[in-house]
Amino acid sequence: MSVLVTGGAGYIGSHMVLALMDRGEEVVVLDNLSTGHKWAVPQSANLVVGEAGDEKLVGQLIKHYKIDAIAHFAGSIVVPDSVTDPLGYYHNNTVTSRALMAAAIAGGVQNFIFSSTAAVYGAAKSNPIGEDADLAPISPYGSSKMMTEIMLQDAAAAHDFRYTALRYFNVAGADPKGRSGQSTPRATHLIKMAAQTALGDRPRLDIFGTDYDTPDGTCVRDYIHVTDLAAAHLQALDRLRGGGDSVVLNCGYGRGFSVRDVIAAVEKAAQTKINVREAPRRAGDPPALVAGVEAIFKTLNWSPAHDDLDEIAASALAWECHLRSLDHAA
Ligand code: UDP
Repeated sequence: MSVLVTGGAGYIGSHMVLALMDRGEEVVVLDNLSTGHKWAVPQSANLVVGEAGDEKLVGQLIKHYKIDAIAHFAGSIVVPDSVTDPLGYYHNNTVTSRALMAAAIAGGVQNFIFSSTAAVYGAAKSNPIGEDADLAPISPYGSSKMMTEIMLQDAAAAHDFRYTALRYFNVAGADPKGRSGQSTPRATHLIKMAAQTALGDRPRLDIFGTDYDTPDGTCVRDYIHVTDLAAAHLQALDRLRGGGDSVVLNCGYGRGFSVRDVIAAVEKAAQTKINVREAPRRAGDPPALVAGVEAIFKTLNWSPAHDDLDEIAASALAWECHLRSLDHAA
């Protein structure tokens, strides 16, 4: 029995691989290394470099490694890129997921965990936002994930196949043991950008919009520590293996922090002021996005251990320091 983790060399996938291996599971990572890193995969995991949408390859892996569950992280995640290259995003996210699901069903894999996103909601009408809210993505990225959710629902109705789709809110932070973290050079996420600015790798941090209808005028998000997110995946896996039915769950903590709150937390961790510039709003940013978390707490045996913005900021900063030391050594 082993778990296939697609995208296991990437940010969130690598934390899932660590969580699985920490509890002694056998893991097969399938990653094309387009944005992931070989070094992010522990030596003791089986790393296969290839496409998650390669049905034949996945079929072989299922047989060879006796895979009983798939956690599907592989995909493209840069929202503005999805606007300029929608068909690329529908290919990497939707078409690939279809092929992976087909291989799973043909190979008798009944348990499937899918990395979905709060972007399926688009601009939330009210917060916290529950799973039953209207799905109205405002980017091809969000649509590509929503379409995969639809395929999962239909496939689960037709086949001996159950899934958990986890809708991630703002994932941040790094492995507390320093083994992995957000390593994509092009990442534009707030906490990573703030950490890089605090370390002097960027001259300044732009605050995108200070005139929102929020407590301090900046956008509010529900930041979840990547290690807690990986733990939610483990609980989802256990539930599916125990025969649990298909379900869609938000992944967040159910509380929001503003851009200014985040900057203050990173400043505290770095013990330095961050040079910020108040900039215009970024297109497509909803003012506030906070997860409704009743369902995840009711459904999974999940107890977050890192619900602390200071800890999230400190771990992200520590990881950024680690990446810098690798760069400087190279
Ligand atoms: N943000 C910002 N400056 C940055 C990056 C992000 O002000 O350099 C803001 C962004 O407008 C949003 C919040 O921080 O309101 C979180 O953005 P991020 O890109 O981290 O995640 P998103 O919520 O877009 O998925």
